[in-house]
Amino acid sequence: TKREDIRNIAIIAHVDHGKTTLVDELLKQSGVFRQNQEVQERVMDSNDIERERGITILSKNTAVFYKDTKINIIDTPGHADFGGEVERVLKMVNGVILVVDAFEGAMPQTKFVLMKALELNLPVIVCINKIDRPEARPDEVIDEVLELFMDLDASDEQLDCPFVYASAKNGYATLSLDDEPKDMMPLFETILNYIPAPEGDPDANTQVLISTIDYNEYVGRIGVGKVDNGCLRVNQDAIMLNAHDPEKQKKVRISKLYEFDGLNKVEVKEAKIGSIVAISGIADIHIGDTICDPENPVAIPFQKISEPTISMNFIVNDSPLAGQEGKYITSRHIRDRLFKELNTDVSLRVEETDSADSFKVSGRGELHLSVLIENMRREGYEFAVSKAEVLYHTDENGKKTEPMEQAYIDVPDEFTGVVIEKLSQRKGELQNMGSISGGYTRLEFKIPSRGLIGYRGDFMTDTKGNGIINTIFCGYEPYRGDIQYRKLGSLIAFESGESVAYGLFSAQERGSLFIGPGEKVYSGMVIGQCSRGEDIELNVCKKKHLTNTRSSSADEALTLTPPRILSLEQALDFIDTDELLEVTPESLRIRKKILD
Ligand code: GDP
Repeated sequence: TKREDIRNIAIIAHVDHGKTTLVDELLKQSGVFRQNQEVQERVMDSNDIERERGITILSKNTAVFYKDTKINIIDTPGHADFGGEVERVLKMVNGVILVVDAFEGAMPQTKFVLMKALELNLPVIVCINKIDRPEARPDEVIDEVLELFMDLDASDEQLDCPFVYASAKNGYATLSLDDEPKDMMPLFETILNYIPAPEGDPDANTQVLISTIDYNEYVGRIGVGKVDNGCLRVNQDAIMLNAHDPEKQKKVRISKLYEFDGLNKVEVKEAKIGSIVAISGIADIHIGDTICDPENPVAIPFQKISEPTISMNFIVNDSPLAGQEGKYITSRHIRDRLFKELNTDVSLRVEETDSADSFKVSGRGELHLSVLIENMRREGYEFAVSKAEVLYHTDENGKKTEPMEQAYIDVPDEFTGVVIEKLSQRKGELQNMGSISGGYTRLEFKIPSRGLIGYRGDFMTDTKGNGIINTIFCGYEPYRGDIQYRKLGSLIAFESGESVAYGLFSAQERGSLFIGPGEKVYSGMVIGQCSRGEDIELNVCKKKHLTNTRSSSADEALTLTPPRILSLEQALDFIDTDELLEVTPESLRIRKKILD
């Protein structure tokens, strides 16, 4: 059976592209199309820190009404995926809205969530927002979005997606740039027509997979999920199961059910197929639990929540000055607050240590833990933290493996060199690099999690606050060896296990150069790899002023025409070797050649 009166959609947007404004506007106009709906102030992302950092950590639900249809809108986390949340949210919906700024275009941070949506075969509505901006370039942005879809292996149907032009700020959406702007109706209609209604079997055994957890001081833990089959009623007896934990099988009684209405939860007596329902009163409800009928209960499989990759100790501040910055300073305060956090954050782990004054807190990357630290400090908690440490694994052969991350970076062109240099030193591997609009370069790295510890501060300084970095855990790989590097003036070399990566110009030397026909290389860029002791052949040409560069430092830029293959010694003639730095004995043969 189909629930034609419901649509479940997720909303994906890069920060500041107007997701909140858009949902607000749909909510407001929902009041027009369906009376008796009070409009409240925006609460879609209520967490200040999330906003500042440009990420949304907890998914939140909003329901808007259009004519006879309820549209459940589920917020998706920003790029950083703290523990499989994206996938769980997307499993509740039948389609997504991708909100893209009509000037900025699709940003790499949304790529991960979009990729997951496309993989799950969800239809996508592309909403080109801020169409009112004078610099808006909707046609180009559409091309960029389609290119991104193709990069992500979208299906033909997905590529044939509807585009809606919107000005969330001014409250309108249109299907064509020539249409007279009026209201949000075209977007509402597109949702109804393009996103399938949820389906399920009302006579089958009830199954509700808990996808997110809310927490409320008064009612405690609240499980939120979609009714996949059957029906859930207040006062019904049910069985709670977990696909990953067969031991957990528990009889529960459904005491309170809610559905979403606007920004609120309202109590309901029953929830049918396709409904997004919130269940309170079950103290030990967890993500991944399935609420089933007592007869023939079957757990729905779900993507296992991934384990923490990094840990820090939260330590009571026992200095005589303690209490100056916060009012909650005792071990008890900190302990209670940390354990409370576990109610809503499934990818966090908190452990007691030998010291009553220290708690080991593990999470998904440094950012994850620093968001928690800042939240707690704002709430008035005062404590010290230890340095972050990576949680290593041992593989089946007893070899040490380490957590790896994919880093997506946008930086103004002139800072590309320094970013590449630093991340290469930290064992990062450059996987992709390309120009994007506005004089920005987009970089994609694979890097050990430990290489990112403490890097964000450097990154902000190095890019004068103009860079964006987002990272996502991508599994465990063999340990890449200790981080160490040598810098040879303008020739830079990075050791990484058996191989040596080399690059031409130091990051301090800004600008770009061409290497080979049509190939652009930035200063500081790693341009090749060789084994220890191997000769390097560089494809280098003469230094010359450049005219066609978007770099702000055209004067310092270099071209290499015509391309030639040179030996390292020859190449060095083109390089300023004045500032050769000291190198250590176990260093490379390159160094020997230079010093000879
Ligand atoms: P979010 O981070 O994606 O939730 O973005 P917000 O909804 O908070 O919007 C970010 C900024 O863009 C705010 O200053 C909004 O007023 C502005 N904004 C949102 N929609 C539009 C629009 O359609 N046109 C213009 N010009 N600005 C908009």
